[in-house]
Amino acid sequence: MPQVDTHCPYCALQCGMTLDGSRVAPRDFPVNAGGLCQKGWTSGSLLTSPRRLTTPMIRVDGALEPVSWDFALDFVARKLTELQERHGPDAVAIFGGGGLTNEKAYLLGKFARVALGTSQIDYNGRFCMSSAAAAGTKAFGADRGMPFPVTDLKNADVVLLAGANPAETMPPFTQHLRGADLIVVDPRRTPTAELASLHLAPAPGTDLALALGILHAVVEGGHLAQSYVDARTNGFEDAWRIAASWWPERAERVTGVSAADMRLAAAKLANARNVYILTARGAEQHATGTATVGGWINLALALGLPGRAGSGYGCLTGQGNGQGGREHGQKADQLPGYRKLDDPAAREYVAGVWGVDPDSLPGPGRSTSELLEALGQEDGPKALMVFGSNVVVSAPRSQRVQDRLSALDFLVVADFVLSETAALADVVLPVTQWAEEDGTLTNLEGRVLLRRKAIDPPPGVRSDLDVLNGLARRLGRPGFPADAETVFEELRIASKGGIADYSGVSYQRLRDGEALHWPVPENDHPGTPRMFLESFAHPDGRARFVPVEHTGPAELPDDEFPLQATTGRVLQQYQSGAQTRLIKELNDVVPEAFVEVHPDTAKRAGLEEGDPARIRSRRGETIAKVRFVQSLRPDLVFLPFHFPGEQRANLFTNPALDPVSRMPEFKVCAVSLSTVDGA
Ligand code: SF4
Repeated sequence: MPQVDTHCPYCALQCGMTLDGSRVAPRDFPVNAGGLCQKGWTSGSLLTSPRRLTTPMIRVDGALEPVSWDFALDFVARKLTELQERHGPDAVAIFGGGGLTNEKAYLLGKFARVALGTSQIDYNGRFCMSSAAAAGTKAFGADRGMPFPVTDLKNADVVLLAGANPAETMPPFTQHLRGADLIVVDPRRTPTAELASLHLAPAPGTDLALALGILHAVVEGGHLAQSYVDARTNGFEDAWRIAASWWPERAERVTGVSAADMRLAAAKLANARNVYILTARGAEQHATGTATVGGWINLALALGLPGRAGSGYGCLTGQGNGQGGREHGQKADQLPGYRKLDDPAAREYVAGVWGVDPDSLPGPGRSTSELLEALGQEDGPKALMVFGSNVVVSAPRSQRVQDRLSALDFLVVADFVLSETAALADVVLPVTQWAEEDGTLTNLEGRVLLRRKAIDPPPGVRSDLDVLNGLARRLGRPGFPADAETVFEELRIASKGGIADYSGVSYQRLRDGEALHWPVPENDHPGTPRMFLESFAHPDGRARFVPVEHTGPAELPDDEFPLQATTGRVLQQYQSGAQTRLIKELNDVVPEAFVEVHPDTAKRAGLEEGDPARIRSRRGETIAKVRFVQSLRPDLVFLPFHFPGEQRANLFTNPALDPVSRMPEFKVCAVSLSTVDGA
C-alpha cells in the first residue's frame, strides 16, 4: 500500500503519523506538530508481532484449539442463546473499551441492546475518566474533555495541572505548555512537576482540600470574578458555604501544602490574563473523584475561566478514544449521541433509527466494577464478551476479577494477541488492530479523526464490526452494518440532536482534512472547536458551582498498613501493557514492575535499591523491585500498573467506588512494605 497519513494506536492525544507499511514517521498534525513519544515511534512493531493471533480458538479439554470462523461464530451464538433461554437476557454481558473506534463503541451498544436484549454492558472507560465526565456534565451540562483546541494552550500565561503528568504520559503535549508558568499538583515529583515553577504536593487523597484552600485564598484575596459569577453561573453561595471554612491554614494541616504556597498559587492564577486549569487521573481515580474534579471546576469558575476565550477548564483524557468511547452507547446508562438510556425521548429516537420498539430496549445495567463483581454469581451474568480490554490486569482487585471470569459459564474475548484476559477465554476471536482498518476516534479536544487503514490484516483475521455483524445474523438480527464507513453513517443519524452530535461529520470531510470538533449538527457546519463561549449546555445557559466537601481517602494507613500506595503509568508502557509489552525497544527500558520508595522508608523495611519487595494491602499483595526516589514522600510508594501476574499493582488497589461515576480508587490505599520473605 502507499504511504498513509493516520494516527497513533495509543493515547488520547492521537498524534498524527505517516505509515509506510509498518514504518512510522511523525507528521505535522496540530496536537503533536511533528512530535511522537517512544510508544508512537515504535508502534509499527505491533503490526509485525509474532504473537499475533490469526485463527479463532475454542477451549477443548482445557486447551485452546484452532477452529474455522463459521464454527466459532456458530458456537458462540448457540451458547449465548442457550444461556439466555435458561437465565434470561441479562445472562449475557458485554465489556467494551475506551480504545475502540467510535464505530465499534456504537455497534457494541446496538449489539447488546438489539441483538442480545441485555442491559449488561459497560466498558473500561470507568477506570479512565468517568469522574471528570460526571463533574463536567454537572457543571457545564455537557462533557467534552477539553472544550477548546490543544493549540490554544500556546497562548496561556498560567496553567495549573492537577493530577496530570503529560511529560511522561503524552510528551508531545508539553510543547503547548512552553510559554506558560506551570503550577503542578501531584504528590510525586513527576517529570511534569519538574517543569513547574510551583509544585504543590498534597498528601495522597487530599486534593479536594487543596482545591478548597486555593478557592478560599482566591476569594480572601479579593480575586473572585464577581461579574462572571453573576452573569454566567449559579450556585456560588452554596459552594462557598463549604469553602469558606477551608482557610489555607486549615487546608495546610490536611494536605501538607503550605498556606503560603496556596496563596501564591491563587495569586498566580488570579493575576494572569490567559489561564487554564487541567485535571487528569490523579484528581479522578478516587472514591471522591467526581467531587474532587468538581472542586477544581469550582476554582476555575470562581476565576471566570470556563467559556472565556483564551482561558478555560479541561480534562486530559487517557485512552485513545476515551472521549468518543463514552459517547456512543457502550456505557451502561447511555444511548448514542451522549443520550441517557432512561430518557423516554432518547429511547424513542434511537429505537426509531434502529427500527425497533422503544419498549424493547433494556434499561440501564450495572457499571463496570459492579458488573465484574456479579459475573458468575447467582443473579449475575453467566457469559461475558470482552472487546478491546484486558481487565485481568487493569481492574482493581484483579485476582478477584480473574476468579470471577473463571467462574463464568462462557467467556469470549476478541483481541489481536492472547492478552491475560484472552488466555482465560472459552473462545478467542482474532481481530484487526489500528492500522489494519479504517475507523474514527475522538481525541482529547473533541476532534473527530479518521484513523486510516495502512496495511492489510494477516489472513484469518476479521474486524470487530464483522464479528458483531456475523453474530447478530446468527442471533436472528440480520442487517447490522460491518463496514466502518457504513456504521459511521448510521452513528451520525443516531447521534443527531444529542449532546455529542456527529450528524454533520462524514468520512469524506475527514479525508479532506477538515478539523471537526463536535457538536457538528449539519453537513456544512464548521464544527465547534471552542464550546461554551456564549452559553453553557444547561437549559438556562449557565454553569453550576457544585458544593463539594473534602472527606479523604476510603482507606487510611494504620499500624499494619502504615504507608500509602499510588499507581500510574510510565512513558514506555501503556495501560495494561497488552500492546507495549510486545515491543522490545520499550521493554528494554521498563521490562518489569518496580516500586518507587524513599530510601529512608526502604531501609527501615530492610530493602536496598533493586531488591524485590512485597507490597501488601488488605486485599492482596504484589512483588516489585525497589527504586530509590529521594524526592518521594516517605509515607508514599508508587507502582506502575502495566504488568501481569504477581507484578500486578491491581492485586492490592482499593475497589472503593465513587458514588456518582463508579470509578474505583486506584490512586490511594494503605499498604505495608517488606522484603519478599517478610510479613
Ligand atoms: Fe501516541 Fe500518545 Fe505518544 Fe502521541 S503521545 S505518540 S498519541 S502514545
